[in-house]
Amino acid sequence: MDCLFCSIIKGDIPSTTVYEDDLIKAFADISPQAPVHIIIIPKMHIASANEINSEGAKYVAHIFEKIPEIAAAQGIAESGYRIINNCGKDGGQTVNHLHFHLLGGRDLGAKLV
Ligand code: AMP
Ligand code: ZN
Repeated sequence: MDCLFCSIIKGDIPSTTVYEDDLIKAFADISPQAPVHIIIIPKMHIASANEINSEGAKYVAHIFEKIPEIAAAQGIAESGYRIINNCGKDGGQTVNHLHFHLLGGRDLGAKLV
């Protein structure tokens, strides 16, 4: 399967890892939109939020369990941050492997879109 983030998980494509365990990986976004911009992914290929099933939900839960730790390591736990998932065409999803953007390090404003 030709998936960019699966290739990053395998190590075939380099990334700057900031957190990793058996279930998930977090790495720096290649085109950061804020001083802190981390991509967090499950180590199971889930195409999008539309494809989350009961097995995938365990990975998603684990991602959210680890977000406070990842945010603290990035120095943004106190200042705050935004977590974004883009799903599908209208959601602006460009990589078809479920991922959450962790953004912070500046005032991101109140606008959602
Ligand atoms: P989305 O638009 O929600 O699908 O987000 C995909 C994100 O992946 C974008 O923010 C890209 O900058 C990021 N991205 C694409 N290729 C890489 C890569 N090789 N390493 C790190 N981040 C990447
Ligand atoms: Zn994948």
